Amino acid sequence: SPAIVWFRRGLRLSDQAALAEAASRGPVIPAYILDDETPKHRKMGAASRWWLHHSLVSLDASLRDKGSRLILRRGVSADILAEIADSTGASQIHALRHYEPWWRNAERDLKTRLPDGVGLCLHDGNYLMPPGSVTTGSGTPYKIYTPFWKALREHMPPGEPVRTPQTIDAPDQWPESDTLDDWELTPSNPDWAVGFADHWTPGEEGARRNVDAFIDRATSYDDRRNLPSEAGTSRLSPHLHFGEVSPTYVWHRVSGRGRDVTIFQKELAWRDYAQNVIRQFPDYGRTGYRDQFDAFPWRDFRSSAVRDDFDRWCEGRTGYPIVDAGMRELWATGWMHNRVRMIAASFLVKHLLIDWREGERWFWDTLVDADYGSNATNWQWTAGTGVDSNMFVRIMAPLSQSEKFGAGDYIRRWVPELADLDDPYVHDPEAHGCKPKDYPAKIIGHRAARERALDAYREVKN
Ligand code: FAD
Repeated sequence: SPAIVWFRRGLRLSDQAALAEAASRGPVIPAYILDDETPKHRKMGAASRWWLHHSLVSLDASLRDKGSRLILRRGVSADILAEIADSTGASQIHALRHYEPWWRNAERDLKTRLPDGVGLCLHDGNYLMPPGSVTTGSGTPYKIYTPFWKALREHMPPGEPVRTPQTIDAPDQWPESDTLDDWELTPSNPDWAVGFADHWTPGEEGARRNVDAFIDRATSYDDRRNLPSEAGTSRLSPHLHFGEVSPTYVWHRVSGRGRDVTIFQKELAWRDYAQNVIRQFPDYGRTGYRDQFDAFPWRDFRSSAVRDDFDRWCEGRTGYPIVDAGMRELWATGWMHNRVRMIAASFLVKHLLIDWREGERWFWDTLVDADYGSNATNWQWTAGTGVDSNMFVRIMAPLSQSEKFGAGDYIRRWVPELADLDDPYVHDPEAHGCKPKDYPAKIIGHRAARERALDAYREVKN
């Protein structure tokens, strides 16, 4: 009897333990279920859906090369898998483990629904180490990143990748499948993702190409990773999020090339760390870890003035060139440079005094790498509400960050109104008296914003 492989975010054939195990035992039914119900308000955001569409096209093509195909269904995962198992007489369901709370609930639910004798076999493989397995001496999970990284590093390098199946046997009969186009995952009318394809090739092959292209750049990673004007980082985040390449493979490919590569591996470990955090605190995307902030005087999001400020942030019209460039890069490409993510997030939370959860939601909808664990962990880190040390009072000055990290070309690229301004004017045209008419004035002065934020913080300090 066939086994079902339940694809969620491990959309690849290589180093895919669930697929490898199923294929070694007999016929396989690879299935992807578009499940907007199980995650409830956490259903996949719009930019991620664009990515998913193209990634599924790629996965189906790779499966067909091996004599198989991808079955597409829409609805509650547990219901549909139980039904496919029943109708095909499947003996087992294989899947990679996921740590978002809704997926863990779905796994539990599924186990109770499956026909007698059908098992759900969960495999590791989307992280360097299985989340929860790196613990302190007394066996408790780490909350803070640095000791987590030190402990994780002791287990490295991770195990060898699992072998890619040469062929994948088809079942005697395929279950019904939807057609991908009917899911309407890509936008139309207007097609706001029209530029995404210039920047990305979703799918396993695109992921491999990105890894290959990064290998040489990896040796100068530490020097260049904070410079938004340069392509110093790997741009692997959406590929890693959708599991088009395994982090183990990436780790092995870059290993042994010097100090900068270790810094890169240390960043890769942040991704693992974020999963460890949501495994311990499943509600982390919504609930701050420090209850000190429960009474924080965020500006009232129901007020239209605050909504207007939020809209200006989303649209990249704050009058702070580095913030605006970042927000426009996000809109145009579904991705933003990490340094600029930090600046833009800090600006929303501290300069505009808007609750970090609003920013988290915007990123959730607009990032192609939107990841529940990584997004929540980074937003809570920025806001000072998270498990790491409280960083609220470290208020980033966007204009000096922009100069320090040489963001001139980056701004000229993403903010066309400022394309004709040279350094140093481009970082703060208003202060230099050369702000073009069609570029907005600053939404709030830096000093005033800083004082307002620190005053607000004083209310909850103790
Ligand atoms: P590289 O510098 O090449 O790093 C390699 C990989 O390491 C990345 O692809 C990513 O998987 C991982 N990584 C690096 N930095 C981090 C980090 N701080 N946290 C977690 N993983 C990291 N990353 C996401 O993948 N999804 C998100 O939803 C997300 N939201 C963020 C929100 C905010 C407010 C901030 C400040 C950061 C967020 N990040 C998120 C982290 C980081 O910005 C991106 O992972 C990084 O910019 C991706 O670019 P890259 O692949 O070129 O990274």
